[in-house]
Amino acid sequence: PLAYVNGEFEDLENAKVDALDRGFIYGDGLYEVVAIYGGKLYQIDEHLERYKNGAEEMLFENYPAPEEIKKISHELLEKSGIKEGIIYLEVTRGTAPRKHSFPEPQKPNLFMFAKEAPRPDAEFKNNGIKTILVPDERWNRCNVKSINLLPNCFYKEKANREGAYEAIQVHRLGVTEGTSTNVFGVKDGVVYTAPTGQRILPGITRDTILKLADRIGIKVVEKFLSPEELYNCDEVFISSTTIKILPVKQIDQVTFPVSDYKTTFVLQEELEKYTLENR
Ligand code: PMP
Repeated sequence: PLAYVNGEFEDLENAKVDALDRGFIYGDGLYEVVAIYGGKLYQIDEHLERYKNGAEEMLFENYPAPEEIKKISHELLEKSGIKEGIIYLEVTRGTAPRKHSFPEPQKPNLFMFAKEAPRPDAEFKNNGIKTILVPDERWNRCNVKSINLLPNCFYKEKANREGAYEAIQVHRLGVTEGTSTNVFGVKDGVVYTAPTGQRILPGITRDTILKLADRIGIKVVEKFLSPEELYNCDEVFISSTTIKILPVKQIDQVTFPVSDYKTTFVLQEELEKYTLENR
């Protein structure tokens, strides 16, 4: 894998960041993961728009412009020759003496890398994944793609230890999202997913799925489902940049009939087509 740190390209294994980087000390940073399909960057403008929104909301100053990150992404793509994979990018508030309040002036650090990544297992794509419900214990700005992922890591690990692929988080408002995925339920042909706002990351894939559903006449309602409502759905699926759409075959002890799923597979197919056409 090829990395980029503040102006220098180098092997990822040799890439170094400062110990006093505020990302390392405080988790004071933002990240994005952009997919590479067929040697092309997929939906990079959408990812950079979300990055910019996060940087503005977190009062970052002098942060790398989306156009600059886009240029470096193309360089990483070219130099690495990667055809199927991801570009990871992280911007922190910079290296500064350890002090909670922001450094003056802010001098953000930019770290990126490109690496090959396999597409998810066909087994998961066709036959579904197991999930568990966990409490959503995150802060109230889940719309910001912060590198503070301790709750997400903690509950993903819990899921894995219980033989599940993903943990679905439940807030007092209802079901929010997975640890690195958005969550959808289908009941009587209607698709339900949590509304954007402060409780979920506005997934780029989620947004594309809603557009595709609208285009093919599938009704979508954005609301927080209760755990009972989710258990009672006819179909459940999750989405993200790297996994696209995966059907859910189990939540806790409740099983779902993936072989009878209709809406999920229609949307999976549409998203696949859309990806091929728009990369
Ligand atoms: N929710 C969370 C918490 C995530 O980390 C991700 C992955 N970025 C998603 C949802 C899915 O977002 P996207 O479709 O933009 O990858």
